[in-house]
Order: sequence, then C-alpha cells, then structure tokens
Amino acid sequence: MRYVSYEHEGRIRPGYLDGDRVGSIDCSTLLEYIALSPAERERKRLREFVPLSRVTLAAPVRPNKNVFCVGRNYLDHALEVSQQTGRELKLPDVPTFFTKAPTAIAAPGQTLEFSSKVSNEYDWEAELAIVIGSRVKDVSEANALAAVFGYTCFNDLTARDLQRAHGQWFKGKSLDSAAPMGPWIVSRDEIGDAQDLTVALRVNGIEKQRSTTARMIFSLPVLIASLSKGMTLEPGDVIATGTPEGVGFARTPPEFLRDGDDVEVEIEKIGVLRNRIRIV
Ligand code: MG
Repeated sequence: MRYVSYEHEGRIRPGYLDGDRVGSIDCSTLLEYIALSPAERERKRLREFVPLSRVTLAAPVRPNKNVFCVGRNYLDHALEVSQQTGRELKLPDVPTFFTKAPTAIAAPGQTLEFSSKVSNEYDWEAELAIVIGSRVKDVSEANALAAVFGYTCFNDLTARDLQRAHGQWFKGKSLDSAAPMGPWIVSRDEIGDAQDLTVALRVNGIEKQRSTTARMIFSLPVLIASLSKGMTLEPGDVIATGTPEGVGFARTPPEFLRDGDDVEVEIEKIGVLRNRIRIV
C-alpha cells in the first residue's frame, strides 16, 4: 500500500492510494495512523476518494523528532569524499548517525527556497528513507525489519560550506526545506527486499547518481539495530540511510545547485521525488 499526506480544505490529511485516487484515512495525521496496529489501520481506511490529480501532496510524515541520517554508508561515496578532501579513507566500525531538524522537512513537488547569503554550495544526496512502524529499543538485527512501516525517497540537501565550517554536520544539513521526502510511503510488504533497490538522482534531467541499496556498507537491519541500542525508536521516525557516489561537491569540477534547477530522486518500487530549487 502507498500512503500520502495531502492538502484538503485547508488541512493536511492522511490518505492511501487506490489507483489514481486518494482514499481517506480516519486519523488526523499519518503519524497517528502509523502508530496503530494493522487491524486498527484497516478500520481507519475509508471508502471515500478524491482524484490524486486534484490534491497537493505534503511530506508524507512529520516525525515527533529530528530526521535521523547516516553518513558514509556507500563505499564509493566514502571514496569520492576522501579523494575530494584529501583525507585518508577510514571506514567506520559503526554507522555515523546525525540528524536534520524537523523544520527542514519539505513536500514532494515543493519549490525549495534557499538564500545565497547563507550558502553558495547547495548540494544533493539521493537516499532511501526508512519510516519506522513500531516502538522498539534494543531490537536485534533479525527483528529489525519487522519494525519498519515503509520506505520513501529522500534528498539530504546539504550546504557544503556550512557543513565544513561548523564542524558538526547539523547546521549545514538542517536549513529550512533541506529535507524533502516523498512522494509517498510504500509499505514494507509492497517493497519486499529493500536491500536491492536502484537509487538515482537527476538534475535538469541529467543523471548524477545511480547505485543500488545492495551497496550499502551498513545494511538496513544493522542501521536500525545500531540506532535502537539504548534509544527508543517510535512510529513515524524517519531514518535516511545514506547517499551513494555522485554528489556535487565531489565532482570534477565541483557542481552545486543553481536557481531554477529541477532535482529528481528516483528509487525503484517507490517513485520519483521532484523539487525545484529557488536560490534568492
Ligand atoms: Mg546524506
């Protein structure tokens, strides 16, 4: 099943896709729906529909906390960063976690507005995002995927100059609109094996990134088990699982996003997350 959040009569409503229609969900938010049991969720899906073409999609979910992210989770991306920065390639023994502020979350199709006074190095990072479906702590790798509600496309937009200047990545990764996700969440059962999905990114139709989630350094179960050690994960939490090679700053010469650029993150079995960049 595919889940959306959409604007309807001035409110953001949760819904599910049924062909080219959006079915209503009898909850105030998708976050509230995700926290229910499968049987309760079924009762909340109503047979009331509006055409998908008539609604404006919002970010599918807004977690109660920061968006979790993983740095350096593809070997070829770690290599390109090492070559660009001149720093020795040293692969981590455990995942590198950081977060993005919830105010950075943006919608599919939204024009993402940034300021040239804040950064001159806006960059892209196509990523598969996990949406957690149940409350877990200290979950084992074997049980980790059972805690997943579904998956969506994510662009971990980054102001590289701020990322470098501030030491910690948080500031350069958390500008408003720097966390677009969507267009929908595809449930775990519909995806099947999420460890073998093509991830690609295009700028103005030109492919910049193409890899597969099979090339992750830390697999999805390892990420979830590691993050949940001593720390509770809750329904609706989002974990962006790292980007493959082909980011802008590591290219020769480096490339950054410009005003008017169209950026597309495409993930197999999910779809395309499109955003236009506005730099003022
Ligand atoms: Mg990233």
